[in-house]
Amino acid sequence: MVNIQNALVTGSSRGLGRAIALELGRAGYRVAVHYAGRKSAAQDVATEIRSSGGQASVFGADLSDRAAASSLVNRVILEFGSLEVLVNNAGITKDGLLIRMKDEDWDSVLRTNLDSAFYTCRAAIKNMMRARYGRIVNVSSIVGVQGNPGQVNYVASKAGLIGLSKALAKEYGSRGITVNAIAPGFIESDMTAELPEKVRAAYLEGIPAGRFGKPEEVAATVRFLCSSEAGYLNGQVIGVDGGM
Ligand code: NDP
Repeated sequence: MVNIQNALVTGSSRGLGRAIALELGRAGYRVAVHYAGRKSAAQDVATEIRSSGGQASVFGADLSDRAAASSLVNRVILEFGSLEVLVNNAGITKDGLLIRMKDEDWDSVLRTNLDSAFYTCRAAIKNMMRARYGRIVNVSSIVGVQGNPGQVNYVASKAGLIGLSKALAKEYGSRGITVNAIAPGFIESDMTAELPEKVRAAYLEGIPAGRFGKPEEVAATVRFLCSSEAGYLNGQVIGVDGGM
């Protein structure tokens, strides 16, 4: 890599996003570490990148707000000069059965997980088209491929990210831009720590690897998809799920 490449990882204050930001930092990218509310956690991630010789800046934005999602990308481009890599990782759950699901639980999950990616991709791709180079990775989920009861909002958002990725791959594949989705299985993070022990045990039974995944294992896959070597890999959904 001759020129340093710039990467924005949404939701990188903790969990999978944090591991992805650290991995890209180690790989030599200048990283925009993004948070919604946990600024000091994001600052810690940036500090960790810098202390191992990398470059990082911190950006806050509530991605359930469409204007904030577009402006996040524009702020990163303003500070870094360009954006080669976008990882749409931020996501939330508000689980419940369809018949009891409140309108606001549907809306907030779709806005945060799916709509935000439309806005960040649109802002980023304009910049990537000029450079005729870009890598976008959308963090979907195994449930976006397989479905899951009690998560109609989350599953719809994650399936939507797969559709968005496939359509964009076809729309911009001729411009040196790749758009792929990853579909993690059960990965240890705050999101999965909230689940009752009974639910965790039931998931574990369905994982051939016999264990939950680590954020670092997702990050390694994302690092490859973001690399220039992955230029012929486009519009794919990569499962990182221990064989689930
Ligand atoms: P966490 O709950 O640990 O972290 C969520 C991240 O998203 C945080 O950085 C958080 O920021 C950010 N975020 C939350 N709400 C908003 C918002 N409104 N605007 C902007 N950012 C927001 O989640 P995970 O690390 O577990 O998950 C990361 C991604 O991976 C998600 O998209 C999730 O759906 C997906 N995934 C996770 C799996 C797992 O097993 N953990 C499995 C499959 C997919 P802040 O810290 O500031 O609140």
